[in-house]
Amino acid sequence: MSNRSAPLSIKNTPCSSDPSRDSRSSRSPRSIDFRPVSTSTLSNDIDFVFFDVDDTLLDHSHAERHALADVRSRYLAVFGHLSVDELQQTYHEINRPLWEKYSSGEIEKEIVKHDRFPRLLNAIDAPHADAARIGSVYLQRYAEHWKYVDGARDTYAEIAERYRVGVLTNGFAEVQAQKLKKFPEIRDRADVVLVSEETGHMKPHPHVFEVAAERAEVTPERILYVGDSWRSDVEGGSRAGWHVAWFARSGVNGQEMNGRTFAFQDWSDLLSRL
Ligand SMILES: [Mg+2]
Repeated sequence: MSNRSAPLSIKNTPCSSDPSRDSRSSRSPRSIDFRPVSTSTLSNDIDFVFFDVDDTLLDHSHAERHALADVRSRYLAVFGHLSVDELQQTYHEINRPLWEKYSSGEIEKEIVKHDRFPRLLNAIDAPHADAARIGSVYLQRYAEHWKYVDGARDTYAEIAERYRVGVLTNGFAEVQAQKLKKFPEIRDRADVVLVSEETGHMKPHPHVFEVAAERAEVTPERILYVGDSWRSDVEGGSRAGWHVAWFARSGVNGQEMNGRTFAFQDWSDLLSRL
């Protein structure tokens, strides 16, 4: 385990001090399957496990879909001509580019929060509807539907018994704070809670991972990141020199990973690697 009294500077820490690193990093990319590899564990390689929140520990997709379904039911005159699938798809078409612009620093988060429902209503030819009220109902319903991803709660608790753990998440800081308030056992066990917004960047920007490692007082190569997003978590964590466990609920879709990254679909498979 790490020495908390001696914070490590990431920039000044020679990666070559880990004699096992060269052989691992020189491996060729390979296809990953989901079979747990009981003979190849990371227990000697890591001191700290960071977890993503949305669609890793907590089921953001479930909450989003059910919140949109609730909004549709409440405002049937506005949304009734769309199925829940159609509404969700249109919402994604509006929300995703706004998030991407926010992620790259092109727009402020208030623009995302305030523009997405007016844009959604315009997209479905209902600009007369009260977008602010509908957006507020959506956020209320979204919070009502927060729940753990199946298996994540127990696995998080078990890993927290064996390693120092932390949370590293994108998202609006105030919303993520509400989530951790609703599920206090996540925060209670975490040595570090970092919402990327605090760093002035969002995952996969390298600065986010640097700040997280500094706060954990662990060198990057001794960290495992558990997350669901290929771009934000797998690419971001890998570029930062972390081990990455990719929670690929929908499969790996042909993605290839280096020797410091593996995929899992079932939380018991993650435990078998630790
Ligand atoms: Mg996520």
